[in-house]
Amino acid sequence: MPTIISGKDVADKLKQEIAAEVTQLKDKSGRTPHLAAVLVGNDGASRTYVNAKVKACDVVGFKSTLVGLDENISEEHLLNEINKLNNDPDLDGFIVQLPLPKHIDEQKITEAIAPEKDVDGFHPSNLGKMLLGLPTFLPATPLGITEMLKHYEIPTEGNHCVVIGRSHIVGSPMSVLMWQNTYPGNCTVTITHSKTKNLKEITQQADILIVALGKPEFVTADMVKEGATVIDVGIHRVEDASKKSGFRLLGDVKFDDVAQKCAYISPVPGGVGPMTIVSLLKNTLLAAKNKL
Ligand code: NAP
Repeated sequence: MPTIISGKDVADKLKQEIAAEVTQLKDKSGRTPHLAAVLVGNDGASRTYVNAKVKACDVVGFKSTLVGLDENISEEHLLNEINKLNNDPDLDGFIVQLPLPKHIDEQKITEAIAPEKDVDGFHPSNLGKMLLGLPTFLPATPLGITEMLKHYEIPTEGNHCVVIGRSHIVGSPMSVLMWQNTYPGNCTVTITHSKTKNLKEITQQADILIVALGKPEFVTADMVKEGATVIDVGIHRVEDASKKSGFRLLGDVKFDDVAQKCAYISPVPGGVGPMTIVSLLKNTLLAAKNKL
C-alpha cells in the first residue's frame, strides 16, 4: 500500500513551528509579521484561496489585510494600489491573487511588486535568484512540495523526476528546484508540456512524477511506474449533488487507480494545497526577519 503524503499534517506541524518563531520575534523586536492579499473581482475560487491565506495568518499570529478591489479596476489604479503596499512600512509582504481580469497585464503587475515584499516569489528578480541557488522567496507551491518530500524523507538524488506543466508559478520553478545541487534535488529532470510527444513513455520512467497541468484525473495508472512517488498539484471543483457544498475536489491524477502502483502519493484535497499556504507564511516570516 502506498504512503499517503498528508500535506495537511505537514502544514500543521510547520504552522506550529512558525507560530513559535512569531512569539520569539514579537518578544525580541516587538514586530508582528504582516501579510496583505490583494483580491481583484469576485471569483469564487480566488476568494476561497485568499480567505484561507488570511485565516492561516491568524493561526500563526500574523497580522493580515485583505485588499478587495473592483473587477473593473484599471491597470493604472491597481499599479497605484501596489505602490502603496510597496511603501507601507508596516507591511512585510503581499500577494496579488491570480488570475487577474483579462484587461490587466499580469506580468506588469508581478514586476511592480517590490522584490523584498514578493512573498509569492514570482518577481523576475526572485526567480533569477532561485535559478542561481541564492537565498530568496521561493514560489509557494514548489516550495511546499519540497517541504513534503523532506518531511517524508523521500530520496531524490540521482532519481528521474518528470514534471508535467511548465507554468511560471508551478512547473518551471518546480523543475529547477528538483535539479539543484541540494536535498530535495539532484534529480535528473524532464519537464513536459502540451507539445510533448509520447508523454506516457516519459512519465512511465519517472521515479518522482509532479503533475501540474490543470486537467482533472489526467494521469492514469498506465502512465506511472511501479513504486513511483506522485505529487498531484491540480485542483478542480466538480459538481456533486451528494455533497453539502454541491461540489467535490479532484486533482490532475486519477487517485484511486494510480495509488495502487505508488510508493508515495499526495491526495487532493489535503495534499499540495495546504502546503502552498504554509509556504506563503514561511516566506512572510522570512520577509519580516529580513527587515530586522
Ligand atoms: P497553467 O498555467 O494552466 O499551466 C498548465 C501547464 O500544463 C502548461 O505548461 C501546459 O502546457 C501544460 N499542459 C496542458 N495540457 C497538457 C497535456 N495534455 N500534456 C502535458 N502538458 C500539458 O496551470 P498552473 O497554474 O501551473 O496550474 C496547474 C494546476 O495546478 C491547476 O489545476 C491549478 O488549479 C493547480 N494549482 C494548485 C495549487 C495548489 O496550491 N494546490 C497552486 C497552483 C496551481 P503549455 O505550456 O504548452 O500550454
